[in-house]
Amino acid sequence: MSFQEKYPRPYYAKYEPVDIGNDFGWFQVYRLPGDVFAITEQRHCEEVTSFLIPGDEKALLWDTGEGFYDITAVARELYNGEIIAANSHSHFDHIGCNHRFDCVLAYDDPQAFYTAERGAPHALFGNLLEADMFAGDLPEGLDPETFSVPPYRICPVREGDEIDLGGRVLEVIHTPGHSSDSMMLFDRTHGILFTGDTIYDAAMYAHFNCPEFGYSNVDDYIASMEKLISRKGDIRALYCSHNDLIVPPSRIQDVADALKAVKSGTVLQHLGVEPEQQYLEDGSVLTKCVFEDFSIVCRI
Ligand SMILES: [Zn+2]
Repeated sequence: MSFQEKYPRPYYAKYEPVDIGNDFGWFQVYRLPGDVFAITEQRHCEEVTSFLIPGDEKALLWDTGEGFYDITAVARELYNGEIIAANSHSHFDHIGCNHRFDCVLAYDDPQAFYTAERGAPHALFGNLLEADMFAGDLPEGLDPETFSVPPYRICPVREGDEIDLGGRVLEVIHTPGHSSDSMMLFDRTHGILFTGDTIYDAAMYAHFNCPEFGYSNVDDYIASMEKLISRKGDIRALYCSHNDLIVPPSRIQDVADALKAVKSGTVLQHLGVEPEQQYLEDGSVLTKCVFEDFSIVCRI
């Protein structure tokens, strides 16, 4: 089934929509428990979500979206004060408006610096800018022949760093696996873990192996899950950067178990990966390992 046939996805109806003055006909915003806004881009097949996390003194924008429209204009409608930005990792669909900030917090990893210097060149988008990757019209002003994400500046953060927004502190947790620069933010007050692409309710990717997309690593991925499991008593909800917005914390253990099954070769159900999901990779060795609620794409 094509992306267009799946649109609109039913799971967004679970959440409280927020009307904003100018959504560009593109963004749809939801208010989530714990005073967090999800800014979704559900008309593109990536279905990426950025989160605005308000504090008493400033707000943090967790990823800056695809860059087809200015997400900072949406964030400013939702928060009247200073807004800083941080990246879950530096894949192209999370960094689109990074250049609109003086500096974006990113994990201190070579992948984050590599992408910041270059932005996301047009070639990285592959077929993702073709008309059938969008529900409805293409974004106004988007030239699918030339679109790219400009370079930007990052301010590196490291494991255990705390970002104080005033009345809300976000802790940096390094979670390599999907990419070496993947990190999560943990809001201890509300028990919310912002997971980026490392955990979400769809196919998770652990196969990247080139400088443009960085390097996935199943062993690192497992270690990241073990680190989260050691803190599971504090985690009440996972706020994810693609597809459904909130996933229960039990998913951490499920993903850990799945990755271990992948590594040990005991996964029963394997499927090929569609060509459009191969990105820049050669594709010949990619496998999609299917589990009950999600799948993992890797090189086995
Ligand atoms: Zn990613």
